[in-house]
Amino acid sequence: MRKITIDCAVCGERVALEHGKEAMFETGSNAYHLMDLCPSCLDTQLKAAETVNDTSGYRQKAAAMIKLPGAAVPSVRN
Ligand SMILES: [Zn+2]
Repeated sequence: MRKITIDCAVCGERVALEHGKEAMFETGSNAYHLMDLCPSCLDTQLKAAETVNDTSGYRQKAAAMIKLPGAAVPSVRN
């Protein structure tokens, strides 16, 4: 079986698809910013979130729907 990896949109770490998580950040009413996150970045965003819901994913079965204070989007680390 082919091993599929994704690059975390925040820290750039390459993780196996099944360990990554799609996160949809609410940026407005019915506006979302989709990012693939590694487990540790997802954890950070979940702690910062105002609200978190699960929703159907775009590529994956489930995505985290996250609203950050001020409808912010995570900044990308270098
Ligand atoms: Zn990451």
